Amino acid sequence: MRPFNYLKANTPAEATALAAQLDGARFIAGGTNLLDLMKLEIETPVHLIDVNGLGLDSIEDTPDGGLRIGALVRNTALAADARVRKNYAVLAKALLAGASGQLRNMATTAGNLLQRTRCPYFYDTNMPCNKRQPGAGCAAIGGFDRQLAIIGTSKSCIATHPSDMAVAMRLLDATVETVRANGEARTIPIADFHRSPVNTPNIETPLYADELVTAVRLPRPLGGEHVYYKVRDRASYAFALISVAAVMKSDGTGRVALGGVAHKPWRVEAAEALMPEGYKRVTETLLEGATPSPHNAFKVLLVERTLASALSQVKVHS
Ligand code: SF4
Repeated sequence: MRPFNYLKANTPAEATALAAQLDGARFIAGGTNLLDLMKLEIETPVHLIDVNGLGLDSIEDTPDGGLRIGALVRNTALAADARVRKNYAVLAKALLAGASGQLRNMATTAGNLLQRTRCPYFYDTNMPCNKRQPGAGCAAIGGFDRQLAIIGTSKSCIATHPSDMAVAMRLLDATVETVRANGEARTIPIADFHRSPVNTPNIETPLYADELVTAVRLPRPLGGEHVYYKVRDRASYAFALISVAAVMKSDGTGRVALGGVAHKPWRVEAAEALMPEGYKRVTETLLEGATPSPHNAFKVLLVERTLASALSQVKVHS
């Protein structure tokens, strides 16, 4: 690990001001991904700005009937919140499908959104990787890409986004609140928060270096039956091969989003209009234009079958 300076901020204004002043600064909260990346020297921040003391750790009701989740709310606390369990069950289920109890106790809402891919070549510093080193090439393309993306890829990168929580938040149309050192505040729809890889897979979000995530806002509850099905190589503590988040109404309408298939949580609103026509039509539209490789073509059928299982739940419970 490279040496770094450790700084502690007490307010969002102080944290963003430090990030604006110091080249090579990174915010740190739970550190469950960043510290691993620093040990491998994939991330080499010169300054770490500890944001754990900023007080962004509450979950509040909003005037429009939704929830505002502080950026520092731990994944365990969010999954256990009675309002989340009752009204946003897909989010609680996705959170509990992620990582391990110990990691969820440390991992924060903002950090979960900002975690980086688990592409094995990204973590192997002997291999070329455009995300780690722009212009180096991509060892995963033509390599062992069983875990990697089947849709929304580019010639530069075929990595997947590893978060379960983000898939549920995409389904729920969450928005991400941020602030910069100059006081400028933004509200970013989660659909725009994670980027497609195009030819700059190293740029993963629209955030500026001094931009701090302060909260995630959920709109008023959707109702319906919520499911989050995660298919993985072992029963726990593994990233998704694919996952399906769905909200379904008894009239057959609903929403669906996928994890483990793309560089970002994958949702195609046009596919949702086809839910009354059944899982095959939805899968076709969700994965239209997919470019799987021989190693990961199984994911197409896995999505179809997992979606079939998810959609059947509404019949069981309605
Ligand atoms: Fe790097 Fe993306 Fe290629 Fe993986 S898929 S090696 S993260 S460029």
